[in-house]
Amino acid sequence: MLEDLIRSWDGEQVVMHFDHKSGSWMFVCLHSTLRGPAGGGTRIKAYPTPADALEDAMRLSSGMTLKMAAADLPFGGGKAVLSVPSVPEGDERRRLLLRYAELVASLGGNYRTGPDVNTTSADMDVIGERTPYVYCRTEEHGGSGDPGPYTARGVFHGIRASVRHALGQPELEGRIVLVQGVGDVGARLAELLAEAGAHVLVSDVADERARTVASHAGATIVPPDEAIGVECDVYAPCALGATLSAESIPRLRCHVVVGSANNQLTEPEDAERLRAAGILYAPDFVVNAGGVLYAWGVETLSWSPDEVEARLAGIGEALGEIFTRADAEGITTEDAAERIARSRLS
Ligand code: NAD
Repeated sequence: MLEDLIRSWDGEQVVMHFDHKSGSWMFVCLHSTLRGPAGGGTRIKAYPTPADALEDAMRLSSGMTLKMAAADLPFGGGKAVLSVPSVPEGDERRRLLLRYAELVASLGGNYRTGPDVNTTSADMDVIGERTPYVYCRTEEHGGSGDPGPYTARGVFHGIRASVRHALGQPELEGRIVLVQGVGDVGARLAELLAEAGAHVLVSDVADERARTVASHAGATIVPPDEAIGVECDVYAPCALGATLSAESIPRLRCHVVVGSANNQLTEPEDAERLRAAGILYAPDFVVNAGGVLYAWGVETLSWSPDEVEARLAGIGEALGEIFTRADAEGITTEDAAERIARSRLS
């Protein structure tokens, strides 16, 4: 029930709109504006019920608050979900995005959006026709473009920092790294890893994509259903969330988990399961902040390319602090990261 969800959530504001023409629900959730305007992407997806869509938007919005705070950006957390009967294309997609853009505009800059699952820089161009509060428009339209390559660079720094902590030195030469999901982020990550001398394994449900990336990066393909049990130094989940669970963790044969996917832990207890298994987990909301650092940094904070690079490298430094704190306090890396982020919210 929508009212139960809203009552139980600790966020600031939920804005809802029902689009009669398409039968779509729009939910914009502003979890926190304590550090600045709420920022977070726009997801278009078919959900079983509007309540499922709202729950997803709330959860993702809370995660954005932690991500922005962990990255020490002057923004809060937000997220929007367009819950559609089926993902629209063409004129209908444009109409829906323009209507959604009016909803974003009505919030007067308290919520600022960007791409997410099923939305691209081209969609941000459309939203930008009705509101300035949109990031990652194409460069032709004055935006910073696709954030994926920057997210990949942040993950790469995260992998080096995690390997240093778990295995003693950051060099990736000869290390075996499994990249699960070689889309926008994973494909670039596989290339960076190969350039650093790692032995890269790639896995994707899209066979053709896996083959293309494997040939570019000189990687070995692992069938999707075998990915979890593969022996490797690093497992980098870059496809979907919830790949770490009570069922999958005992099957992992890696030393560290560091990837871009959002919400990798199926339930909070999985952080402790990883710790007990002796696997170092790099919290996803810290590792995958590269895209946000780039787009928000360049478009709002006027960061230079050097500053962006320094902040991407900072993801590795932030992880180093998190790992040290987790060891010192005998807590999970997820708890350590959340404590650091929450201390920046008071
Ligand atoms: P994408 O859609 O471009 O790529 C995802 C890839 O995963 C696709 O190639 C898909 O075929 C593959 N895939 C799906 N299910 C799979 C499975 N079960 N096993 C193996 N492969 C599977 O997405 P992306 O932009 O590369 O993002 C990857 C992940 O990182 C997502 O979880 C996303 O939410 C997260 N993320 C992305 C960014 C960004 O800047 N793009 C930023 C932060 C977080």
